[in-house]
Amino acid sequence: MNNLEKVSHETMVFMRGKYRLDEIGDGRDELKFKQGQKTVLTVYTHEDKFTFLIIFGIKEREIFEARRDEFSKDILNYYDDAKTYHDGKWIFIDVTEPAQLEEVKRLIQIKKKPNRKPFPKETAVYSKCGQRCDLCVHYTGTTEEQRAVMEPLLNKMWENNDWSMRCNGCYSDDCYCKDDPCNAKGCAPEKGIAECRECSEFPCIRATSADYRSMIHTQVHYADEITWGILPYVPWQYEGQQG
Ligand code: SF4
Ligand code: SF4
Repeated sequence: MNNLEKVSHETMVFMRGKYRLDEIGDGRDELKFKQGQKTVLTVYTHEDKFTFLIIFGIKEREIFEARRDEFSKDILNYYDDAKTYHDGKWIFIDVTEPAQLEEVKRLIQIKKKPNRKPFPKETAVYSKCGQRCDLCVHYTGTTEEQRAVMEPLLNKMWENNDWSMRCNGCYSDDCYCKDDPCNAKGCAPEKGIAECRECSEFPCIRATSADYRSMIHTQVHYADEITWGILPYVPWQYEGQQG
């Protein structure tokens, strides 16, 4: 991945891992992360950068001002130059490098405390690349009741309406991809390791079946679609990510 792709992927990992929000794109160059009518973050896509817009109200400005010395000169300049309107201070930040994104993540957490409740781990069944088999629509252990909840959400996310394939899990003899290895299963042996979870690059984007759906987009996906259509198929459901 180049730096822009890394920013794109890590933005989604962070936002979806920390927050349970609707993703409302305009189909062109804008993605808003929203809870109801409230926008937490807007991302504008460009060929050579992403522009993040975070609007700080009075309370968030007080928090930021008290923590100014934690931020770089660049971020302080963006903040100080930002215009203040009736609804708050509109901070536009251009991001091209993952290191810049790390500071933006801290601003987002000033704007809103994380609200994503992690999936319980007590009954977790992981695949070789860290996906949650026990939360997968295909898994034989998933109840029909749960499938009825998941399938309409998966239909929308994956533009598919056939979820009838059944799988006993990644380590079973009848894992659905045993004859046609997924990217992760093909890659690990080439690196001389048994599985992705032993890899220093884990979790990498090849270890997720969310592919381009784990990048910044401009479509409309509601929070439940992300919860059931994306997070089970991403290593650790982003749970290991620190903000
Ligand atoms: S399809 Fe993949 S995630 Fe689902 S149960 Fe099988 S190995 Fe696990
Ligand atoms: S590089 Fe990615 S896909 Fe390959 S073994 Fe490592 S984690 Fe798995």
